[in-house]
Order: sequence, then C-alpha cells, then structure tokens
Amino acid sequence: MAACKDLIDSRFPDDEGHGAAAMLLGDGTILTGTAPNAVNPCVEVCHEIEPYCGAHRLNQRIVASVCLHRQPGGRTVVLSPCGVCRERLAVHGPDVLVAVADPSDATVVVWKSLRDVLPDYWMTAFPDEIDAGWVG
Ligand SMILES: [Zn+2]
Repeated sequence: MAACKDLIDSRFPDDEGHGAAAMLLGDGTILTGTAPNAVNPCVEVCHEIEPYCGAHRLNQRIVASVCLHRQPGGRTVVLSPCGVCRERLAVHGPDVLVAVADPSDATVVVWKSLRDVLPDYWMTAFPDEIDAGWVG
C-alpha cells in the first residue's frame, strides 16, 4: 500500500485527483502502475494494468492487489478492483487478496480474498476446467 501511495505522490506532485495500483508478487516483488488519461475516456485502462502485465512478464503469481485514488486536498481512498480487474486477477486463483474500502471509511483498507469478492464466480460452473482453487 505504501508503494502505491508513494507512486501517486512522486508521479503527481500537484493537488489534482490521481490514482495508482500496486501488486505483491509471489517472489516478494512489489510492482506499481498508473494509467494515463485519454482523449476518449472509453479507451482508458485501469491502474492495475501495468503491474498486472508486469507479473505476467516476470512469470510471477499475484498475491495481493491494491488501488488507491488521491483526491484533491490529499484524501486518499481505496478503490476496490473493478469487475474487469477481478476477472483478470481470477487467473491467479481465489486466494489473491484485494484491497476494498471499509464501508464506513473509504480511506481504510479492508483485505478480502478474490473468492470473497466473487462469491458467485461464473467459472464455478465448470469445476473440471479451472484451477482447483475456485471450487471446493
Ligand atoms: Zn479495473
């Protein structure tokens, strides 16, 4: 989480809203990333994309993922992974930990397993075709 916050602060020293993500890999490496804006917001990508692809490049499993957004004024909130990122992370199994915002205070991280944030994951209908972890 500190690496994610450090990236936001170092990359964006202004007082505008910015975000970043960080992922802990199986070998202990922490990868961070942030997403550029685009003229057409429809083509923007999630902050998680850079560390997600980096994990693939390094052939490492993703152990945990966090995404933060610093609002103007400095308040930093936790952004739980979007549905697409949850689907991407599912490749790494149901035990991946993802940061979600505490319901009473969005600045507080609550760590949950991907299994817990995808209780009815669609691939559970195909237990023979997926990694053992998702079913059982
Ligand atoms: Zn996403």
